[in-house]
Amino acid sequence: MNVLITNTLIIPMTGAGLTVRGDIGISGERIAFVGRRDASFVADKIIDGSNHLTMPALVNAHTHLAMVLMRNYKDNLPTLQEWLGEIFPIEDKLTPEDVYSACRLAIAESIQSGVTTLCDMYFHTSATIQAVTEGGVRANLGLTLFGDETVSRARIKEHEAALKAGHAHSSGRITLSAAPHAIYTCTAGTYHLARAWALENDAVLHTHISETRKEVEECIAEHGTTPLMYLKRIGALDGVKCLFAHGVHLSDEETALLAELDAAVVHNPSSNLKLDCGIAPIASYKERGLSISLGTDGASSNNNLNMFEEMHIAALLGRLGGHLSPYEVLKMATIDGARSLGLEERIGTLEAGKEADLIMINLTRAHLNPHNDPFSLLVYSAQASDVDTVFCQGKILMENRNLVHYDIDALVEDVNARWAAVLSR
Ligand SMILES: [Zn+2]
Repeated sequence: MNVLITNTLIIPMTGAGLTVRGDIGISGERIAFVGRRDASFVADKIIDGSNHLTMPALVNAHTHLAMVLMRNYKDNLPTLQEWLGEIFPIEDKLTPEDVYSACRLAIAESIQSGVTTLCDMYFHTSATIQAVTEGGVRANLGLTLFGDETVSRARIKEHEAALKAGHAHSSGRITLSAAPHAIYTCTAGTYHLARAWALENDAVLHTHISETRKEVEECIAEHGTTPLMYLKRIGALDGVKCLFAHGVHLSDEETALLAELDAAVVHNPSSNLKLDCGIAPIASYKERGLSISLGTDGASSNNNLNMFEEMHIAALLGRLGGHLSPYEVLKMATIDGARSLGLEERIGTLEAGKEADLIMINLTRAHLNPHNDPFSLLVYSAQASDVDTVFCQGKILMENRNLVHYDIDALVEDVNARWAAVLSR
């Protein structure tokens, strides 16, 4: 199908400060043109974009989709460690059916906030693959690992066929990562297996790193060095593309190493504040050449999957002793997020030939006017509910706030019933 969006304010994310007033053509899965209309383009569907800003869809580069089940559950505990002590036991009770239901709600929530790409680390992979496939979004799905090499070998054997099949049948919408949870839950042997699996499967190595000072101090006490230097020393990072969630407490030696690696740090400011982990010095990291993307983390430590809220908080924190501009924050949530997952040639900007992942934002809302600077508008003023229409790979997932694949009332009822059942187990 050919779709024409007319006379819209375009933020292509191809250059700082660049805006265009014009048309966008979508032909099948791809963007046909941006700005000036191709005279030969015949539209099957025309969308009036005159009251809208159109930009690349957002990339949530670190989350745990099914944790929407634990939203507002066991909040306000003093530390990450105490929170995990409450969360891990309840996660052990979840079934694939619970995860499938939760992922459907999480995907619907994500689409409603303009996200079409999710990077997920969780359990019951087949259930997540099914939800992502049906939801029409894009996801990097982790082969999540905990524990020692023996446990990890068994987990790989159990899940890799489903992951590979999900990837093969997704029209490129599902990509993969090897996802050892963290250095305090996984052995060196597990990291070695994860690296090997990532290299074999053209996947990313996705792990939590230096989220808390306690993690760093315990690593120094046990291994004589900081977490990232420990992973480097054991050879876990050799030759593999890496995605490091959090990176709140990185040393100068570690930031210098990261600038050399094919790696990105995912900033999760809401989660870091809520779990009292600290504030990652993102402006400083960027000055030192690190690639930074943005994520919500799971809804249990956020407590939503709203990337507009995440951009807002990142922008505000970036003002503390730094110079993080609204454009830089938008890059983290679009093209830099795509790059961190190896998708920068396919999505993240609005350019002819790229896959059509884009969102339209309603500019007629009171809190968006007058709209002097569209980049400031997006990170400081816009709300997720301003996203009207969402395309992923050329297909409409939401139009005028109506979700194509989901009945929200039914999803909410199903998730609440499942959560009640989990609590009674
Ligand atoms: Zn996380």
